[in-house]
Amino acid sequence: MTAYPIIDHTFDVVVVGAGGAGLRATLEAAKLGYKVACITKVFPTRSHTVAAQGGISAALGNMSEDDWRWHMYDTVKGSDWLGDQDAIEFLCRKAPEAVYELEHFGVPFSRMEDGRLFQRAFGGMSLHYGKEQAMRTCAAADRTGHAMLHTLYGQSLKYDSNFFIEYFALDLIMEDGVCRGVMAWKLDDGTIHRFRAHRVILATGGYGRAYFSCTSAHTCTGDGNAMVLRAGLPLQDMEFVQFHPTGIYGAGVLITEGSRGEGGYLTNGAGERFMERYAPNAKDLASRDVVSRSMTIEIREGRGVGPMKDHIYLNLSHLDPKVIHERLPGITESARVFAGVDVTKQAIPVLPTVHYNMGGIPTNYLGEVLTLKNGDPDTIVPGLFAIGEAACVSVHGANRLGSNSLCDLVVFGKAAGARAVEGIRPGENHTDLPKDAGDNALARLDRFRNAKGGTPTAQLRGAMQRAMQEDAAVFRTGETLQSGQKRVRDVYRGIPDIGVSDRGMVWNTDLVETLEFDNLISQAIVTIDSAIIRTESRGAHAREDYPNRDDANWMKHTLIWFDFKTADTQIDYRPVHNYTLSNDIEYIPPKARTY
Ligand SMILES: Cc1cc2nc3c(=O)[nH]c(=O)nc-3n(C[C@H](O)[C@H](O)[C@H](O)COP(=O)(O)OP(=O)(O)OC[C@H]3O[C@@H](n4cnc5c(N)ncnc54)[C@H](O)[C@@H]3O)c2cc1C
Repeated sequence: MTAYPIIDHTFDVVVVGAGGAGLRATLEAAKLGYKVACITKVFPTRSHTVAAQGGISAALGNMSEDDWRWHMYDTVKGSDWLGDQDAIEFLCRKAPEAVYELEHFGVPFSRMEDGRLFQRAFGGMSLHYGKEQAMRTCAAADRTGHAMLHTLYGQSLKYDSNFFIEYFALDLIMEDGVCRGVMAWKLDDGTIHRFRAHRVILATGGYGRAYFSCTSAHTCTGDGNAMVLRAGLPLQDMEFVQFHPTGIYGAGVLITEGSRGEGGYLTNGAGERFMERYAPNAKDLASRDVVSRSMTIEIREGRGVGPMKDHIYLNLSHLDPKVIHERLPGITESARVFAGVDVTKQAIPVLPTVHYNMGGIPTNYLGEVLTLKNGDPDTIVPGLFAIGEAACVSVHGANRLGSNSLCDLVVFGKAAGARAVEGIRPGENHTDLPKDAGDNALARLDRFRNAKGGTPTAQLRGAMQRAMQEDAAVFRTGETLQSGQKRVRDVYRGIPDIGVSDRGMVWNTDLVETLEFDNLISQAIVTIDSAIIRTESRGAHAREDYPNRDDANWMKHTLIWFDFKTADTQIDYRPVHNYTLSNDIEYIPPKARTY
């Protein structure tokens, strides 16, 4: 590929992504004395983590007694027994230390009168193994992600971390199954960069934008997940897509669960607090899958609000205005701007909206990427790590509990940063890259850059997003999923006729969006194919034709590979880790679903 001159770089570790996960890993590896590059397509503090509102979970026990084992129990139950219990133990044990570390780094957490960190109630969080509602979620008002991201960026600049900002990572450099580096395109001057590294850590976030209505940023296109598929590796549990109960109707902008944690509640068209019927104990703070399904049933059965009866109200006006002002200032503004509502007087119109991808790149609790090889489903892919929403560790299993993602970012970000540098010396020599390293990535870039077909990218993207929204929704059936399978494959077959109008290399947003769409479509296909095969309902995956959880046949992770030539998928499975790391807690056996 002589048409594209290449600028070479060599690092001990390359992290792709500067959200909470990527920054925490960058910081750790750099702090340990290694030369680290962090590549990001947006300025670090514009990563989607900045939008996280409600908070970060950790059993600190500031509001009442608490125990990491109770947090673990809730996370296992919330995951509907699909989470790996060794990883969940790791997460919940390390969470308090991770939050105190953030506090010491300078995150301006909300506090109580006596100076200790304030903690709020979040869905699915309990004391004494499911007995009472816990207050376990630390927050910086309702702008927790914002505070975390700015603090972590500042901290990582203290060490030898080198930021490559507004560089778009194109693809991994793989050699004989080993990850050797990554190719990237510098957006502001159009140059091409080849990063050679002993270890690559993917922290590229979720792929919410495969759907029409989602709470995540336009940049959440799962680029790392798609790179993994292109490397011939599988993704895991892609059928599990979380709908957040309270996206603002029409806009999709999030209203944090913390608003219900502070006492907010949902009502239907008859003004009824319907969650009392569906979840008599947890009510409005039942886990997200339960609340989203209940809202969908209310709307379907004609009890929605508004002229079309197609949404639900979230009520906060009974709360003390002081509480709203101090703890929920961000969503007060969002409700005003995006729904024209004054939350101290009126209810907010809301609808379940795509929020989080439980599925992603399979890893162990140290962030090492796994694949199935010679019958071993826990085979490590040398040189490659994944963390954050891009990864499937799997601590969230079939359904993530609110405030468990921010905690996952920092706990596994730190663990992966430390693990990545094990066994290498700072500045250790690299073997030469193969001569053709990066050619695949450039061929793909070149093909789209010169694509002269008749279909604009936006048209294909729109068709994909509508298919996902309608056919892989809160409730699924074999029929809707089959329709979805056909629709997303039709979109895929439309790619050879794609048309890109800008042929430049500098700030070519047309080309960026095309590469992002191309990343999304493979994930849309594997999401639907994984969903159609799983003939049970578990966590966020609610099959109307198979309403029960089926532990005998389905307590296992789905692994899925994608064939880019034929658009066919191949599916296999990994057993759920039904063991813990230590003897401090025993394996938590499955229970029936009661809320
Ligand atoms: C509105 C909203 C509110 C939320 N609130 C909470 C909450 O209160 N508590 C909680 O626990 N969770 C919350 N979540 C979930 C949580 O915030 C996310 O799961 C988490 O922030 C994801 O972090 P990340 O580091 O994995 O990725 P992100 O923060 O999404 O960052 C991805 C990074 O990857 C980079 N990147 C991606 N592709 C490329 C590429 N091709 N080349 C170069 N760089 C690339 C981006 O530039 C970015 O830096 C919320 C999510 C949303 C959307």
